[in-house]
Amino acid sequence: MTKTTTCPCGSGHPYLTCCNPFHKGLAPKTAEKLMRLRYSAYALNLPTYIIKTTHPASSQFNHDLSKWSHDVSEFSQHTIFKSLEILDTQEQDHFATVTFVAHLEQDKKDVSFTERSTFEKIKGKWLYRSGLLSAGHAPNLITTNQLRILPLAYYGDPILRKVAEPVAKITDKIRALVEEMTETMDGCNGIGLAAPQVHHSIQLFIIRKPEESKSEQGKPGEVKVFINPTLSEPSSEKWTTSEGCLSIPSIHGDVERPKEITVDYTDLEGVLQKEKISGWEARIIMHENDHINGILFIDHLSKIERRKLEPFINAICKQIHNGTEL
Ligand code: ZN
Repeated sequence: MTKTTTCPCGSGHPYLTCCNPFHKGLAPKTAEKLMRLRYSAYALNLPTYIIKTTHPASSQFNHDLSKWSHDVSEFSQHTIFKSLEILDTQEQDHFATVTFVAHLEQDKKDVSFTERSTFEKIKGKWLYRSGLLSAGHAPNLITTNQLRILPLAYYGDPILRKVAEPVAKITDKIRALVEEMTETMDGCNGIGLAAPQVHHSIQLFIIRKPEESKSEQGKPGEVKVFINPTLSEPSSEKWTTSEGCLSIPSIHGDVERPKEITVDYTDLEGVLQKEKISGWEARIIMHENDHINGILFIDHLSKIERRKLEPFINAICKQIHNGTEL
């Protein structure tokens, strides 16, 4: 800042009494305020603020902080920040969405975009989690449904290490939980979610059936519900690929798993099912089934890989559970 200009966030107030105290450490009370603060931080080339207010689960999260900071700064310097237009805000206790248009110019070209950003509150602090983007002015990104995203249990939470209890009866409560879990999985861009990950220590998980899956039950793209599952007959043929987990944000590692598995489970209608499943669907089922047994994908990593990821896992753990800044 070279002069006492009005704040780039569009409040009409001077920067010094508007976003400045927050950029210096004051915590915003709402996700919409954080949205405005991040916009003005981009406009004023304050990459540290962007980094500090980004959730580890964000796709923008980068463990290489100096590269990340450099990239944000490059963007700030090559962009003219004309104005921020908030189209819609939905806020609940732990989650919020803010849909906005960022009116921007680069090399005399209009590069404005609309984004529906998701924010999650951790340790009383709002953090930017993810965003759905569209070019130009795109009010169609506004969702009319009320948000029903459940708070997630993150690595270090003891519930993730407990063996979950069987589900005795499929009640309305269970059906409501499945609906909320589906919204949570989709809202966080997950492909599977187990009940302990949303603080319910019961033997239930959901998956979104992969497009290429040839299993008997459910259509590709649909949500499948597994209640009191038991896995058996793992194939001797195995394959290794990279996995991630909503409870351990921004960490990915190679996991070896059987190619095929048999699963006995009760579906949401209370019908007993038995299926032989292979490929990605089998992998997701094994990953989620691990959750209800207190096992995490990082437990399957090779010693070398685990040791390599350990500092990042610890840093994320500290940030989430102690509110420690990066
Ligand atoms: Zn997981």
